[in-house]
Amino acid sequence: MKITFFSSKPYDKEFFDKVNKNFNFELDYFETHLGPHVLNIIDHSDAVCAFVNDKLNAEVLESLSRKGVKYIALRCAGFNNVDLEAAKRLGLRVCRVPAYSPEAVAEHAMAMILTLNRKTHKAYNRVREQNFSLNGLMGFNLYQKTIGVIGTGNIGAAFAKIAKGFGARVVAYDIRENQELKDLGMDYIPLEQLFAESDVISLHCPLTDATHHMVNKDSISKMKKNVMLINTSRGGLIDTKAVIDGLKSKHIGYLGIDVYEQEEKLFFRDLSHTIIEDDMIQRLMSFPNVLVTAHQAFFTEEALEQIATSTLTSLSHFEKAEEFENPNAVLI
Ligand code: NAD
Repeated sequence: MKITFFSSKPYDKEFFDKVNKNFNFELDYFETHLGPHVLNIIDHSDAVCAFVNDKLNAEVLESLSRKGVKYIALRCAGFNNVDLEAAKRLGLRVCRVPAYSPEAVAEHAMAMILTLNRKTHKAYNRVREQNFSLNGLMGFNLYQKTIGVIGTGNIGAAFAKIAKGFGARVVAYDIRENQELKDLGMDYIPLEQLFAESDVISLHCPLTDATHHMVNKDSISKMKKNVMLINTSRGGLIDTKAVIDGLKSKHIGYLGIDVYEQEEKLFFRDLSHTIIEDDMIQRLMSFPNVLVTAHQAFFTEEALEQIATSTLTSLSHFEKAEEFENPNAVLI
């Protein structure tokens, strides 16, 4: 089988080449995003391997299908960027990596909380300039604070357990309750109550019609003053304009985002010599209480190895018409 990769980086090649020694597929890597403008580079490919910001809309899927592509492998968990209806109509099989080291993302969410709270990024720079003063570095204890987790699937559950380890009161909201978390003493409460009671809110639900802009002007008004908001899930969960207003009015005390609604034009690239036209991200980065990371929450050695193994295993299952061990890996 020949697999064409889009949005691939040197680290993708490193891990996929290593894992492919067990599969012997033909792997063809392109750095460019997948979209209508690059379809001509696909040559006799059985499968396309795409990442979070590749757009697999009906037009792209139709072209891929016409070119003989049979399988779409998403090397990520989220699949909001694929028109599954169109894929189904075209007879394409689609798989994803349903769970790869959920701890990688959960630990990054906690790293963002600790950085924003204890300002280690500022302390690091300060002492390098021989400034040993503590002014402006004060944080707060997470112990006995209320941490609200929205979405308690693989990542949200891993995050909730870490938060519990800090001695925080952990409350959760999900459309499906996770019994393991309840057994560990975490309470499911209505979303409005979670907004009202949480000192820290961490988003871990997928981007769907129901969750799009779940953090908006109205929901922010229900949150505690000085709330800390963390989003390592998908940018579209947050109405960025409303969050900027919330930061300006000081209703939101801290914001940590690893994802951003317009991230496909920015993230995973070095734009240090470029004029960035996106005023929204520039405004966000100008706040001293905002931390932006460029979709790196998944980025651990363990996660990359699991992503490569799961993706190539799924494609092998498709090719051999085998049953999947983990049915959540198959979308169609
Ligand atoms: P998952 O499917 O295991 O869990 C998602 C949870 O969200 C489920 O429990 C589901 O019931 C819940 N949910 C669905 N709709 C909801 C709603 N309307 N309100 C509240 N909860 C709802 O997924 P996961 O592996 O935990 O991943 C969560 C998200 O994290 C993914 O969708 C993806 O967007 C994001 N993600 C980000 C990174 C990163 O590097 N930043 C990496 C992996 C995944």
